[in-house]
Amino acid sequence: MEGLDILPFIHYSLNLSTIIMTDEDKRVENLFWVRDRLEERFGPIEKDRTRSPLDTLIQTVLSQNTTDNNRDRAEKSLWQAFDSYEEIAEASKETIAEAIKTAGLQHQKAKTIKGILTGLREMGGLELDYLDDLSAIETWENLMEFDGVGKKTAAVVSLFALDKPIFPVDTHVRRVTSRLELIKSGENHHETLTELVPDKDMYQLHLHLIRHGRETCKSRTPQCRDCVLLDRCPTGQKELDND
Ligand code: SF4
Repeated sequence: MEGLDILPFIHYSLNLSTIIMTDEDKRVENLFWVRDRLEERFGPIEKDRTRSPLDTLIQTVLSQNTTDNNRDRAEKSLWQAFDSYEEIAEASKETIAEAIKTAGLQHQKAKTIKGILTGLREMGGLELDYLDDLSAIETWENLMEFDGVGKKTAAVVSLFALDKPIFPVDTHVRRVTSRLELIKSGENHHETLTELVPDKDMYQLHLHLIRHGRETCKSRTPQCRDCVLLDRCPTGQKELDND
């Protein structure tokens, strides 16, 4: 009978050894928890695939350092001034800048747009189909070869328009994931989130983190008391402890 008494202890010990988590396991578990809480709060999002990869690239260039509203106004006015990408490629940078001025930084953006279109024309066509056969990382790096196209713009086009899993990081994603300590000091946000977030979750989580950053985890005044992520947010817990 004494032998039988020890069995529950052995069983308990085995269970304990199987649930010890490494720091990395814990981080992934927290990331999945954040993903699920944000989905509960904001609901699922279907990917919008109505735009071509080139449309997405030009739209994302226009969106740099401005609001969605100004980006949309600039895009509309671009297509009021021109009938095709071919026409834009032929136009002077000044004419393009005038058409997109509501987006701000219009001279820099006009230079980038003209550079992209003339570059593509030299490669054989005003589209991005040549990226289809490349891996996600190759696509990302290839897009960054255009002057004025940085990590975020290239990642947005890769993920949104080409189904290549690269996690785009903007100021909101950077701030929220840093405050949640999902990114360790010295790590690159793009690379770490691309590695940790499952491909199927990237699009929705990216958009949810942006919305959460705009509405709750604001830059200067995070609303930690009302935050659905407070239970696992070290920054939020410290904020409330200091109140
Ligand atoms: S608890 Fe505060 S700091 Fe943490 S994610 Fe929420 S709003 Fe941001």
